[in-house]
Amino acid sequence: MEKKEQLYEGKAKKVYATSDPERLIVDYKDDATAFNGLKKGTISGKGVINNRMSNRLMAMLEKRGIPTHYVQELSERETLVKKVSIVPLEVIIRNISAGSFSKRYGVEEGIVFETPTIEFSYKNDDLGDPLLNSYHAIALKLAAPEEIETIKNYAFRVNDALKAFWSTCGVTLVDFKLEFGRLSDGTIVLADEISPDTCRLWDAKTGEKLDKDRFRRDMGGVEEAYAEIMKRLEEHL
Ligand code: ADP
Ligand code: UDP
Repeated sequence: MEKKEQLYEGKAKKVYATSDPERLIVDYKDDATAFNGLKKGTISGKGVINNRMSNRLMAMLEKRGIPTHYVQELSERETLVKKVSIVPLEVIIRNISAGSFSKRYGVEEGIVFETPTIEFSYKNDDLGDPLLNSYHAIALKLAAPEEIETIKNYAFRVNDALKAFWSTCGVTLVDFKLEFGRLSDGTIVLADEISPDTCRLWDAKTGEKLDKDRFRRDMGGVEEAYAEIMKRLEEHL
């Protein structure tokens, strides 16, 4: 598939058109940002890891009946995906308290929930991705009620599949963010990426953080953590 003009450059990926109007190429960068772009840096080798990890996990989800945008890995950093119109919602599932949940509700990190939680943020950098509920999303016409139902249902199924997979790798899936999109016929599919940039992943034994929190919180060992989590995935997939 021929790579054509660049359509978009985001914080972590570049997106290119192709000769097929229904396909895009995403190109994963090593750039890392946090706190809505306030903190900027580079995580050497991250793009290669995130590309590969996201593709492996999406292929696994497809096998479990969850439709995704993934088509074909083209190179270390490039993947062919189905073009979607992104539903401007960040869908966040949590199994354990951490990050903004802990901050917002004044609780420590590490509380294991009896049932996973779901929340939505309006994907809008200018507004700082404000939290909203499904009624707000429908009122703002970000998604139709049936689409929200589909998205919720897929998001919990993704959680079940990922939690079980990471557990076999000795990794606890704490929380993660998903994005969904519409194909040209309106079908909802999982899009964007699933990677240590978008998930919190803790070593099941030691609790060591193996994700982007090491960058956000200046903990050091960022590259090593990305390499370690990728190694675990490769060993267990
Ligand atoms: P951001 O826009 O948050 O800086 P990225 O750097 O990851 O994020 O840029 C990738 C962009 O491509 C995001 O806006 C994401 O919503 C969008 N995207 C991801 N998958 C698809 C897809 N299959 N079709 C169209 N857009 C997509
Ligand atoms: N997340 C993400 N992109 C965002 C916000 C959150 O990928 O713009 C992921 C984040 O990596 C974590 C989960 O979603 O795995 C929950 O993040 P949280 O709401 O706790 O926000 P943060 O602490 O990252 O600000």
